Amino acid sequence: AESPTSTPPFFSRGDRIAVLLPLPLAGAYDYLCGTEALHPGDFVAVPLGARQAIGVVWGAGRGDVAAAKLKPVAARLAARPMSRVTRDFVDWVASYTMAPAGAVLKMAMSVPAALEPAAGLTALRLGAVPPDLKLTAARKKVLDLMAGMPPLAAADLAREAGVGVSVVKGLADLGALATVELPRPSLFAVPDLSLTRAELSDSQRLAADTLVAAVAGGFSVSVIDGVTGSGKTEVYFEAVAACLAAGRQVLVLLPEIALSAQWLERFKRRFGVVPAEWHSDLGDARRRETWRAVASGEAQVVVGARSALFLPYRELGLMVVDEEHDQAFKQEEGVSYHARDMAVVRARLGEIPLVLASATPSLETMANVQGGRYRLLHLPDRHAGASMPEIVAVDLRRDPPPRGRWLSPILVAALEETFAAGEQAMLYLNRRGYAPLTLCRGCGHRLQCPNCTAWLVEHRSAGRLICHHCGYHIRQPRKCPGCEAEDSFVACGPGVERVAEEAALLFPDIRMAVMTSDTCAGPQAAAEFVRAVSAHEIDLLVGTQIVAKGYHFPMLTAVGVVDADMGLEGGDLRAGERTHQLLSQVSGRAGRAERPGRVFLQTYQPDHPVMQALRSGERDGFIAREAELRRSCAMPPYGRLAALILSGPDVAQLEGFAAKLSRAAPHGGGVEVLGPAPAPMALLRGKHRRRFLIKVPRTVNIQATLRQWLTRVPAVAGVRVQVDIDPYSF
Ligand code: ADP
Ligand code: ZN
Repeated sequence: AESPTSTPPFFSRGDRIAVLLPLPLAGAYDYLCGTEALHPGDFVAVPLGARQAIGVVWGAGRGDVAAAKLKPVAARLAARPMSRVTRDFVDWVASYTMAPAGAVLKMAMSVPAALEPAAGLTALRLGAVPPDLKLTAARKKVLDLMAGMPPLAAADLAREAGVGVSVVKGLADLGALATVELPRPSLFAVPDLSLTRAELSDSQRLAADTLVAAVAGGFSVSVIDGVTGSGKTEVYFEAVAACLAAGRQVLVLLPEIALSAQWLERFKRRFGVVPAEWHSDLGDARRRETWRAVASGEAQVVVGARSALFLPYRELGLMVVDEEHDQAFKQEEGVSYHARDMAVVRARLGEIPLVLASATPSLETMANVQGGRYRLLHLPDRHAGASMPEIVAVDLRRDPPPRGRWLSPILVAALEETFAAGEQAMLYLNRRGYAPLTLCRGCGHRLQCPNCTAWLVEHRSAGRLICHHCGYHIRQPRKCPGCEAEDSFVACGPGVERVAEEAALLFPDIRMAVMTSDTCAGPQAAAEFVRAVSAHEIDLLVGTQIVAKGYHFPMLTAVGVVDADMGLEGGDLRAGERTHQLLSQVSGRAGRAERPGRVFLQTYQPDHPVMQALRSGERDGFIAREAELRRSCAMPPYGRLAALILSGPDVAQLEGFAAKLSRAAPHGGGVEVLGPAPAPMALLRGKHRRRFLIKVPRTVNIQATLRQWLTRVPAVAGVRVQVDIDPYSF
């Protein structure tokens, strides 16, 4: 279904064509077709100012530039054309996110060098030996060796014959040895579909059968809603196998591909090979090879971060979005899109099935299930009789930690028991560094980032105070800039480093590891952590949300959430949903095998609906109440929402522009504009930021509303306007 069209429309010499270039500020430009016929989707080199650029033939030209002024296409590249589905997807994403189509194309091309033909490998075989060849002993050795041998690389041949490479080269020059092109060995091994699969439970079997049937159908969305440890991965692996058996490619999106060592291992156990990976840590060469292998179909399974959606699949047959609720799927820089939502669009355009998996599906996804648009597959139990962990709320008002400490006596006792039983524990606090705030004991002066609305965070292990938003950092000053007092700064509140310090003090003999994006940068470091924990070389794992991500450690039986209330404060309407998802995920690490698990939520609000839902396991009731709240104020998923972020270095100019926009704001027909208000980060990297929220009923086209609004107010140099459709926070 995705093979490029070789039938009309095609363009011939002198035709006006539109070429889309992977540039963030451009729509398609018109060019003239040269001597070579062109089809939509062809990659072409075109003149652009004084240089050449590579773009894609997008269709017939429509511009109003006189044909005489247009430049001809310089060359058509040999690369496989971009499929109709990929092009339609680029257009769709651009129009939905209101980003320039060129900016979206840039994500789909990501590696222009991949379009150059890959250098082949050459080898030598016996050629036509000239009758007058002077047969030296060395030459004879080579020719004798080659008789009846498959082609060999020149260096290997020289080594095996025990002669110098120059002898081999000389024979090749004389034609006695002929050069042959070898097929490139594939770097992307073929999955083995014959390996024994897991014996599925009844509910797993039912879900897997439904997915396998879906693979044979067209577009559909299935949601695997299963508690942590219920075997969601095993179940969608069955669909992956079915899709591969049908000869089509599979894409699996994971929120944090750098943290997926365990997932890759499981894939390898099931299919004998590791899939092609796609994420920002890939080196250039690997990136190029992967792009090509996806385009040629050689890479049959791709596992990647959200950007893998834009790869030019030869024949995509199935997509999976695992942990579909995860915030990491929302991209906010550049083209602002939600990978789960765009996956739905990609599946519809390609007429293929999509699987969404989560233990805590998003309200958006549940609304689609309730509306009958998505199919729900339920896995109610943990695999092999493992029970769900017991969840205890530790009321910090009644059982507070000692002064200057962060672990309550109840939690400390539980950790003691866990270590005594030879089991592992985890402490979770989503705060990097030593302390979130550093202030002067004398005058209360706080150390703030000069570029952002944010405190500097002390990272004691690195000996620095760091801004988590822009990376600005300083050494801790000796003298307070406020009152000149010496050595007067104190750390306020806990970060993971401080919690680790306290644990080390309490349990001097246990082996501990701190896992955060500071200590665990990149896939290798993450894989090493996972190995060490799995091998039980670690007793206590202290970490930020990266420890919460889907890991399966059978001996991990106790989880302590140091500050369960974190994330509930602030006016964000998604706070409850997000906290519930995150804490369910964290809790889900406990007691995943034979030994039962316990989770301790340290909270000042044990009766908060989120804590109650976690304690009772009453997830559906919680989701229903959150949904009702959203419905009552027509917020997503019941209304459409967009954010308009204005940013610039000059506050007065920024506010002037915001006031003009405010006066021209749309109204009526259920359209509501909130703001301008300081954006969640009112100062970021030296730019001031203001935000409008635009809310419209689902029947109103929010993009058209925004476009009309923005055309009423002329743009101002120095003020940047960014559109974020479906903002994550509101
Ligand atoms: P989830 O993705 O729902 O958290 P997983 O797929 O990670 O659950 O399964 C949890 C653990 O149980 C994994 O180690 C997995 O290999 C194992 N498991 C799940 N289902 C089966 C099965 N049917 N047979 C054997 N092992 C299983
Ligand atoms: Zn900063």
